[in-house]
Amino acid sequence: MPYKTFFKKQGAFHFGVNPPPVFESAEKPEVESALKNLKDRKLWVCSACSDLHIGLKPPRECPTCNIVGKFKETSEKEFKMIIDKFLE
Ligand SMILES: [Zn+2]
Repeated sequence: MPYKTFFKKQGAFHFGVNPPPVFESAEKPEVESALKNLKDRKLWVCSACSDLHIGLKPPRECPTCNIVGKFKETSEKEFKMIIDKFLE
């Protein structure tokens, strides 16, 4: 199973094998900090490959599985469980 890592762009974060376009590397503490202060951002999960996203909207196309339209909102509990399962 390929491992996933964290990426960021402005206030958005992504957890996947591949980053969305123009996202750069991020560290787990940055993601934990974002989870504690989401403001208008929501939590998203790709229902095909379990990539995660924090942002106002999810990517249209998942950068890891390349399927369009698979992101749905998720809970903080599921979000954290998926990180533990897939983190490098
Ligand atoms: Zn995916």
